[in-house]
Amino acid sequence: MTRVIHQRDIERRSVRLRAREFAQDVLLAGAAEARDLPDPAARFQATRPTYEEMVKAGFLKDLIPAKHGGTGLSATESFAMVEELSAVDPGVTLTLLATTLGLAPLMSSGNQDQLRRHLPVFLSGSGSPLAAFAFSEPEGSANFENAESSDTGMQSTAAPDGTGWRIDGSKNWISNAYGWEGEGPDLMTVTVATNSREATRGGSGAASDGERSASSATKELTVFCVEKGSNGLNFGEPINTTGLRTHLLPRVYFHGLLVNDRARVGAVGEGAQIVGAAFGGGAGVGALALGIGDAALSFALGYTGTKSRGGGIPIVGHQSVSFALVDAKIRLEAVRSLLYRAANAIDARADDAFELSVAAKIFASETVVDVISKLMLVVGVESYSDQTPLTFYLNEALALPLIGGSNNGFRRRQLSQCLRNA
Ligand SMILES: Cc1cc2nc3c(=O)[nH]c(=O)nc-3n(C[C@H](O)[C@H](O)[C@H](O)COP(=O)(O)OP(=O)(O)OC[C@H]3O[C@@H](n4cnc5c(N)ncnc54)[C@H](O)[C@@H]3O)c2cc1C
Repeated sequence: MTRVIHQRDIERRSVRLRAREFAQDVLLAGAAEARDLPDPAARFQATRPTYEEMVKAGFLKDLIPAKHGGTGLSATESFAMVEELSAVDPGVTLTLLATTLGLAPLMSSGNQDQLRRHLPVFLSGSGSPLAAFAFSEPEGSANFENAESSDTGMQSTAAPDGTGWRIDGSKNWISNAYGWEGEGPDLMTVTVATNSREATRGGSGAASDGERSASSATKELTVFCVEKGSNGLNFGEPINTTGLRTHLLPRVYFHGLLVNDRARVGAVGEGAQIVGAAFGGGAGVGALALGIGDAALSFALGYTGTKSRGGGIPIVGHQSVSFALVDAKIRLEAVRSLLYRAANAIDARADDAFELSVAAKIFASETVVDVISKLMLVVGVESYSDQTPLTFYLNEALALPLIGGSNNGFRRRQLSQCLRNA
C-alpha cells in the first residue's frame, strides 16, 4: 500500500532536518568552545555568535505566532526543532526558548503599542535579541499567589508612583535577564505583586484575619515590561551551574525602577492568568529532554557496539547490556509518544491539551534523567569521564524537572487539580 505523504509531514520533516543540520554545522562547535570557559558570563557571551546564527537561520521567528509576524510553527514542528537543537546543546537552545517565554506575556496580552515597540527586533532575523521572563524569586516561587502575610507569596512589588509605577524586589534563576553584557535583555517581562500592602493588612474584604486562609488570600499580580539599561535594574553574581553551562542565570534586583503605566501588560491584577498562559503545560521542556535522551542512547549504542573492554566481544553482546539498551529505547519511545500526543492536542486545541502537556513535561524530564543514569551503568566507568558525553547529558537533563514550572512545586499540583476537576 502506498503511504500518503501530506504537505504537513513534509514541512515537519524539513523543520527537523533544518534544525539537525544547523545543530551539526553551527551549534556543535560554537557551544563546545563556550562550555569550558571558567566564568559563567564569559561562557554565555561566547555563545553570542552562535545564537546570532540561530536567529539568522530563522529559529526565533519560527517560534513566534504568524499573527504577530512570525512563521508560527505548530507545537509538533517546534518540538521537533527543539529536540534536534537540544541533542547538541540544551543551553543555547534554552536561551532561544527563554526568549520566546519572555515575549509570551506580550503576545498574549500586550496592546498594539507594546507589540509595535518591542516585537520588531525579535522578528528582524538579525542580531542577537534576548527577552527574559522574570517570575521566580530567591525565597521561592511555588507559592507565588499566597498572600497570608507580608513574607509569603510574590515579594517583588510595584507601587503607584505619579503616572507610573515603582518596582522593587529581586528575582532569581532568570534566563537571559543579564543580557549579553550586563545591560539586561532587549525586553524583560516582570511579574510583581501590586496589592502587597492591602494583602498584608488582611485585604479590604470583611473577613477577619482568622477567617482568611492561605487559599483565600491571593496576591494580586501584574506584569510589566522593563527595557534594557533601565535605571534601578541591577544584577548579582550569575549562578555557576554544573549543567547548562552555555546558558546564564543571574539574580536580578529592582531598586526603585520606574516604569510608565504604558509598560503594564494587561490589566492590574491579571498577572496570574498571563503567567499561567505563558508557562502553558510545559511540554516544550519535554522536547528538550527527549533530544538529550536520544543523544545519550545514540552514544551508548555506539560505545557498547565497538568496545569490548578486554572481553573479546563488544559489550553489547552481553545480554545484561543489550537488555538495558532495549529498556532505554522503549522508555524514550514512550516519552516520544506522550510528547507528540500532547503536541497534537495543543495543535488541535483539544480539551485535554493542557493536561497532556503537563503530563509530558513531568514524564519526559524525569524519565530521561533516569534513562541516562542507567545508560551510565552499562557503559561503565568510562561514562564518568569527561572524555565521554554521558555526564554532560545527565547534568543538562537534571535541570529539566526543575524548570518551566518545577515538577513538584507546580506541575504535579496542576495535574492533581485537573484530576480533581475531571
Ligand atoms: C535552568 C533554569 C532556568 C530557569 N529559567 C527561569 C526563567 O527564565 N524565569 C523564571 O521566572 N524562572 C526560571 N527558572 C526557575 C524555575 O522555573 C522554577 O520552576 C521555579 O523557580 C520554581 O521552582 P520550585 O517549585 O522548586 O520553587 P520553590 O518555591 O523554591 O519550591 C521548592 C520546592 O518546595 C516544594 N513546595 C513548595 N511549595 C509547595 C506546595 N505548595 N506544594 C507542594 N510542594 C511545594 C516543591 O518540592 C518545590 O520544588 C529557571 C530554573 C532553572 C533551573
